[in-house]
Amino acid sequence: MNESLFTLHQVKGYIATIYLIEYRDKVLLLDGGARHDAARIEACFAQVMQRPMSDLKLSLVSHMHPDHAGGAPLLRRQFAIPIAAHYEIDRWYRGSRGVAQHLIDTLLGHYSARQQFGRLERAWYPRRLEPDYRLYDRETLPLFPDWIAYATPGHTLHDMVFYHPQEKLLYVGDLIIMVGEKIVLPFPTLFPELMADSLKRMAELEVNKLLFAHGGVLEIEDANTFFTGLLNLVGMPNRRSFRRIEPLCSLAADVRLYKKSRKNVGAARK
Ligand SMILES: [Zn+2]
Repeated sequence: MNESLFTLHQVKGYIATIYLIEYRDKVLLLDGGARHDAARIEACFAQVMQRPMSDLKLSLVSHMHPDHAGGAPLLRRQFAIPIAAHYEIDRWYRGSRGVAQHLIDTLLGHYSARQQFGRLERAWYPRRLEPDYRLYDRETLPLFPDWIAYATPGHTLHDMVFYHPQEKLLYVGDLIIMVGEKIVLPFPTLFPELMADSLKRMAELEVNKLLFAHGGVLEIEDANTFFTGLLNLVGMPNRRSFRRIEPLCSLAADVRLYKKSRKNVGAARK
C-alpha cells in the first residue's frame, strides 16, 4: 500500500484482529475489540505509529458482541474518542432477554478465547453502546468521508461493514470469517435470509482486499465471484457443538420477532 492514502496496521486482540487506519493527520479504528484491547491499541499508537492517542478521531463498532464492542467505550472514557455504529445498535441487548444474552455472549467470548488461544482476560463491557454517531446504510463516515458504512444483518440484526471504494478495501467484521484458508459464516447466523441479502449486496461492490476480524487479510480477484460463492453456505447445518448452544444465542428480542415473522410467512404460504 505504498501509494495509498493511509497505512494499515493490524493489532492482534483478545479474540479479534483490530485494524488501525493511519492517515497523515488522523487515525481511524476499525472495531474497538474487547475491553483489554483498548490497551493494545494504545500500545500500537505509542510503539508502532509513535503518535498521540489524540490522533485517533473515530472508533467504529461493527456489532455488539464482546470481542468488537468492548474496547471502544473504554477508549471514549479515557481519551474522549467518539464512537460510530449502526443507528439501532442499542436495540440488540434490550430488555431482560437482552441482559441474559449479553451475559451469555460475554461468557461464550471467554470460552472461545480459551479454546482458540488458551487465554482468559476480563471482558465485561456496557450492554448499551450509545454511539456518538448513528450510522445508516450506505452512509459515509463522519470525519472519514472516503469510507462508507453498509448495514449487513445476518449475524446480528445491526451488523455493519466498512468499505473504502478508492482502495477497494472492505472490513467485514463478523459478516464472514476465515478459518485457515476456508471462509465460513459466523456462528450464530441468526437471520439467514438477511445474511443471504447482505452477501448479495457485497457481491456488487468492487473489492480487492478483505479485512477480517477473524482471519487476517485476504486479496480477492472479484467480489462478485467471491460473495456469490458463499451463498450456498447460508442455512447449512451448524457443527454439532454449535447446535447444542444455539438456543443460548437466540434470546435477543429481535431474534424472537424474526422467527415469529418467518412462521407467519410460512403459515400464509400454506
Ligand atoms: Zn460477533
